[in-house]
Amino acid sequence: KLYNQLQDLKGNIRVYCRVRPSTDGQPSPVSNMDEGSITLVVPSKNGKEGKKTFSFNRVFGPSSTQGEVFSDTQPLIRSVLDGYNVCIFAYGQTGSGKTHTMTGPDNSTEETVGVNYRALRDLFHLSEQRKDTIHYDISVQMLEIYNEQNRSVGATALNDRSSRSHSCLTVHVQGRELVSGNSLRGCIHLVDLAGSERVDKSEVIGDRLKEAQHINKSLSALGDVIASLAQKQSHVPYRNSKLTQLLQDSLGGQAKTLMFVHVSPEPDALGETVSTLKFAERVS
Ligand code: ADP
Ligand code: MG
Repeated sequence: KLYNQLQDLKGNIRVYCRVRPSTDGQPSPVSNMDEGSITLVVPSKNGKEGKKTFSFNRVFGPSSTQGEVFSDTQPLIRSVLDGYNVCIFAYGQTGSGKTHTMTGPDNSTEETVGVNYRALRDLFHLSEQRKDTIHYDISVQMLEIYNEQNRSVGATALNDRSSRSHSCLTVHVQGRELVSGNSLRGCIHLVDLAGSERVDKSEVIGDRLKEAQHINKSLSALGDVIASLAQKQSHVPYRNSKLTQLLQDSLGGQAKTLMFVHVSPEPDALGETVSTLKFAERVS
């Protein structure tokens, strides 16, 4: 309750940044990180280096654990059982750690599983704890949005082109208070977005180009929606993509949104890192 009141005061959109461990051992353009900001060294026009700092509700560095990342997310997930709608997004270029955050690594253990599993575990656990006062029905659905079409899928199909489609785990919760008979509904969408990297149009043709254009369109539509909510604009452009149409009921109003933006620390990712952090800055 207190958490929800605090959230209402702060607004319902939070942005967390997560930087994964480096894979190349090179000096990283990420020159500094603290609890709430990240600083990049970027080349400037006159050939000298400049620094740019981006601020977030929370920054998780390379050594932060799955458990630490989840513990800041947990209150949001619990609020679903109180009747809130929640969206959690993982945004970033391919290879930046989106699936690691949401699902965990391949062959993950209890320690390394991601947000999706921990969220489900919490929802079932808490509903069990409340079973003497509220009866909950919980249903789980997996969706893939590929080229702006929706559909239910199996886990294998998802892996094949996971970087080019959005995959969404949705949990619907319906509760009925045993004494009063009052009912409530909440839901949570856990979305592992398609890779945000810009594709060089001169290098791709046919299906690959179509995919890239669809991804571009839906990610910018998502950015537009969240930015207009963050700025409390009266018109929210939900209708510009399938993704935002699908999530409309869970974006805005009383709904709570959490965006994890992911950063690859390697020097050759700098261009994409800057555009990722600019996207994040716009929606927070
Ligand atoms: P994406 O889904 O954004 O394409 P992945 O989640 O597949 O990226 O991450 C790319 C690789 O980096 C994977 O091998 C993953 O296990 C590893 N990785 C990502 N984030 C972390 C992290 N925080 N700690 C350790 N390894 C990570
Ligand atoms: Mg992935």
